[in-house]
Amino acid sequence: MNEREPRFALISDVHSNLEALEAVLARTDADDGVLCLGDIVGYGPDPNACLALLRKRISEAVLGNHDVAAIDDFGIEHFNPAARAAIVWTQGVLAVEHAEWLRTLGYEWRAPEFLMVHGAPVEYFEYVLDVAAAKRAFAATDAPLVFLGHTHIAEYYALEPGGRIRHAYLQHGGELALDPGTRYLVNPGSVGQPRDLNPEASLAFYSPEARRVVWERVPYAIERVRAKIAAAHLPPANAERLRRGR
Ligand code: ZN
Repeated sequence: MNEREPRFALISDVHSNLEALEAVLARTDADDGVLCLGDIVGYGPDPNACLALLRKRISEAVLGNHDVAAIDDFGIEHFNPAARAAIVWTQGVLAVEHAEWLRTLGYEWRAPEFLMVHGAPVEYFEYVLDVAAAKRAFAATDAPLVFLGHTHIAEYYALEPGGRIRHAYLQHGGELALDPGTRYLVNPGSVGQPRDLNPEASLAFYSPEARRVVWERVPYAIERVRAKIAAAHLPPANAERLRRGR
């Protein structure tokens, strides 16, 4: 029998949402690599359970701004009040071994054919929210394929050989065939706090041999997470946005 071609699951912005994380991991096969684009913690009620599960499953991971804030207070002054309150709460409950593991992660991870960052190449916590930001991101790296998160929006930007930048939203799932000579910024969307108006958990699969990226949305027990957020006395806004997907 032929071996199945290699495949990577791309996950980002889990944000301590265990129910969403379990739902997306259930969509992966045991031999899929799992690439995590940061923000494992923040906002949600289950940082330790998410870290315990992910540490067993991921192949590579990079730091997000909430991860760095949780272990180092870094950038916390730029957080909105609901995000800041959740980070302070996370700092109080985060297991020492998980904090130590987060400290071993870098801001980028480079393979020959792709680069992983949380927000953007070099400017790691920049938001790629429009074509101008995408253009800066392409200019900052020579990676043919960049996997990034941070905006919590399932989408891609494609830099065609002639210099034109193409963009598409994939908040209801979809597929991208990777053309040779075109470069891409691929955002799998957010597992644990989608902001593209679809509350279902988002992930993407990258198949290097088939040169294909496939986005999927996965329903999960949103009400259970909302109840946990309330029980932990985390800001109600962090629960409300889960139901609205923004
Ligand atoms: Zn995030």
